[in-house]
Amino acid sequence: MSQVIPVREALKLSQGEEVTVRGWVYRRRDLGDKAFVVVRDSTGIIQAVFSPSARGHDAARRVTVESSVIVSGRLRDDPRAPGGKEIQGENLEIVSLADNFPIRRDASREFLLEVRHLAVRSRKLTAVLKIRDTAFAALHEWFRTNGYYEVQAPMFVSAAVEGGATLFPVKYVDGSTVYLTQSSQFYLEALIFSLEKVYTVAPSFRAEKSRTRRHLTEYWHAEAEAAWMGLEGILKVEEELISHIVRRVLEKNHDELTFLGRDLSRLKLVEPPFPRISYDKAIEILQNKGVGIKWGDDLGADEERVLTMEFDKPFFLYGFPESVKAFYHKNDPSRPSVTLSADLLAPEGYGEIIGGGERIDKLEELVEKIKRFGLNPSDYEWYLDLRRYGSVPHAGFGLGMDRLVMWIAGLDHIVDSLPFPRTTSRTYP
Ligand code: ATP
Ligand code: MG
Ligand code: MG
Ligand code: MG
Repeated sequence: MSQVIPVREALKLSQGEEVTVRGWVYRRRDLGDKAFVVVRDSTGIIQAVFSPSARGHDAARRVTVESSVIVSGRLRDDPRAPGGKEIQGENLEIVSLADNFPIRRDASREFLLEVRHLAVRSRKLTAVLKIRDTAFAALHEWFRTNGYYEVQAPMFVSAAVEGGATLFPVKYVDGSTVYLTQSSQFYLEALIFSLEKVYTVAPSFRAEKSRTRRHLTEYWHAEAEAAWMGLEGILKVEEELISHIVRRVLEKNHDELTFLGRDLSRLKLVEPPFPRISYDKAIEILQNKGVGIKWGDDLGADEERVLTMEFDKPFFLYGFPESVKAFYHKNDPSRPSVTLSADLLAPEGYGEIIGGGERIDKLEELVEKIKRFGLNPSDYEWYLDLRRYGSVPHAGFGLGMDRLVMWIAGLDHIVDSLPFPRTTSRTYP
């Protein structure tokens, strides 16, 4: 038996070369004389065919789908086989014979979620997870090469960042009630006074009440905060970061994107600068299209979808009214009814993937706004301290990594962007 090599490497060998691969049985067909076994490993699939004279013929006939196996033989060209080559099988060792695998081709979405621990083996999810891996790696790469420090914030917190409605309460060890974090933003803001430019990638928890295609209850949140930066600066960071990630995915995951049927020409358009549209203009466009919305309303997924049809690449929506953005957003000095904030919307119907902007850096302005929002300044004591000791203009943003992957991979539901999704109705497996 030759040395075990990845399937991707095996498919590069020439006719007649000895080959050994190992993995899991992806498909199996027993034609009596010939037995076909398609083997899957992390790099791809390859077909092996066992004739009656082969030592592994019996094992190939009785092996079941998803059994773990080691297959050896000689490579041969065959245009009908996946990848254009197959293994003329000599031996097949069954490492572990699988029980009858419960997942059928026609399985429903709900059933696939119920057996997610097995469904993660699918070629679709494997392709998505490889793209996801590239996206996370590229994000770290971009921040590190641009002078940002990676930091970590706590998951147990005592106050809301994004509003009380979506807080998850947790009974803490001392009997008090604490919450799971909705955003690391306030902690990142505390760290700009020493590190100046910081970022983190961590879960955020939100008790989302409605079921949508783009909300998880636990999602991966990449957040950044930078001292001495305004709205213009942070938008530049966002467009360069997103373009870098998409470029890396195009470089590294051509096969996966193609397998998923993603339109690569759309992703190739993702280069700076990204178009910008004001909230005012967005409302006008929506009203002209007959959408029932008025100035001062927040945009939901449906309204955003309509707007995305106006652009062929990600675009910024800026100048949101004070009332639709959290209290910490700085109001525009030249037009105080709107904030120096912007969302980044992904095209092709996807909508919001980033929310960000300039933060209020003056103590009085922040206290006044907290009160105007009907909140209690004493709940934000430590956050207010950040404006008492050497406050600086600063800006930041939060990027939903699962939504980013959903858009890049062209998925129609966020649950397929990560291996074990947590939603309003699911915490198993
Ligand atoms: P939405 O309007 O879709 O509810 P949001 O405006 O409440 O999102 P932000 O508070 O701006 O979200 O959070 C920053 C980013 O985190 C969002 O742009 C989005 O990409 C992501 N995000 C927010 N909530 C969720 C969620 N429940 N599941 C997955 N990603 C989310
Ligand atoms: Mg929300
Ligand atoms: Mg929003
Ligand atoms: Mg937002």
